[in-house]
Amino acid sequence: MSHIDNDSRKTWRLFMINISLIIILFLSGIFLGFVLTTNRIIKDQMYSTARSHFRNIVLTRRWNADHGGVYVEKRAGVVSNPYLENPDITTVDGKVYTKKNPALMTREISEYAREAGDFIYHITSLNPLNPDNRPDDFEKNALEMFEGGSREFTEKKQVGGKTIFRYMAPLYVEKACLSCHGKQMYKIGDVRGGISVTFDISNIQKDLKINKILIGVASLITVSILIAIFYFMVSRVARKLRSAHRTIELMAITDDLTRLYNRRYFYTCLGRELTRAQRYGRSISLLMLDIDHFKRVNDNYGHKAGDLVLRGVADMVKVINRKTDVVARYGGEEFTVILPEADIGAAVECAEKIRQEVEAYIFRVQNGQVLQVTVSIGVSSINFFDKKMQIPVGEQMENYSADIVEMVDQALYEAKESGRNRVVVKES
Ligand code: GH3
Ligand code: MG
Ligand code: MG
Repeated sequence: MSHIDNDSRKTWRLFMINISLIIILFLSGIFLGFVLTTNRIIKDQMYSTARSHFRNIVLTRRWNADHGGVYVEKRAGVVSNPYLENPDITTVDGKVYTKKNPALMTREISEYAREAGDFIYHITSLNPLNPDNRPDDFEKNALEMFEGGSREFTEKKQVGGKTIFRYMAPLYVEKACLSCHGKQMYKIGDVRGGISVTFDISNIQKDLKINKILIGVASLITVSILIAIFYFMVSRVARKLRSAHRTIELMAITDDLTRLYNRRYFYTCLGRELTRAQRYGRSISLLMLDIDHFKRVNDNYGHKAGDLVLRGVADMVKVINRKTDVVARYGGEEFTVILPEADIGAAVECAEKIRQEVEAYIFRVQNGQVLQVTVSIGVSSINFFDKKMQIPVGEQMENYSADIVEMVDQALYEAKESGRNRVVVKES
């Protein structure tokens, strides 16, 4: 649990956020494309429906105009077109026929369409002969646009809770028109007026809306599932990497045989603990142990037995010391213990305890053999009571480190010189 863990967590989180954003952007793009494409297809469909209706009515009108208008029998209810001169003719047998010109015919077909509830056509012009054919606002706008060269004009609007689509295209003056509209000074190709086609697109709009919602939901689900799968995969990999990281980190600071900290980490801790001791004006102690005549253990019982003894002593030292103490293998059969906040008295007590326990312990090695060892222990201590709050400078800290190790080394040397299996103290 270290800064590496935190760093890698941050890295993974950032990675996840980036990947999620990419997934969201990418899929949103695709789904937006779906929505836009569907909208375009539907819009094309509406245009093409409107255009074909317009085209039908234009062809019907052309047929009528090409025949100079058509006559229908004037039965009951049939009214003559008041805008035509002499609309009625009487046959030799006395039947009366009245003329339906293109404009009137369009209006009447439009009535049929309106009654059928399908479409509404409206023929109109900025300058109508029949005042009933006056354009509404939409048509007026459209006609003005046509004068400017536009060929189509549309609008979508809400009327009485329904959505309607209005389409309008211009009617151009053709040769056949001039026989009746020549008086209005039209030339062939002029915009004579236009026909608007109006129909209900509420159902289409509703389908479009449902389509949009479905695509939205689908994209949300897809994005969530993809991100979840990704998150699952990434967090598994991250967990494995973190654990590998921790193992490597631990391996870098521990000794393989004894599982104690190694010499490098001992120095890191010593520096840290010295700094802390100085900051708070406390004392700090150090023990250095060396197994007595350890070479003989190897020589008499073998290397394996030596290793077993090393591990056994390491375990004893670890068990005796507090969690906050740092126990390390300094080298071969030498161990160090940092005792933060322990004064010389406490340190000696601890050292003595270790010495006695090791002395009393019976090691069982291979072939049922037993052996005992003793340890010599040097103890040193620094107290910072009078140096409290001095800012610990790097170089100064290194000096403290060197001092306390030098002292403990001397103490250990003296313990060896004065007969082994004893505790010797050196105090600053
Ligand atoms: P002294 O009382 O003066 O310390 O005598 P000593 O024999 O303990 O000291 P010396 O330095 O002569 O020998 C230390 C021995 O420790 C030599 C070496 O083979 C042994 N040793 C060092 N590391 C290991 C290890 O990892 N395993 C084993 N089995 N022996 C080791
Ligand atoms: Mg030694
Ligand atoms: Mg030794």
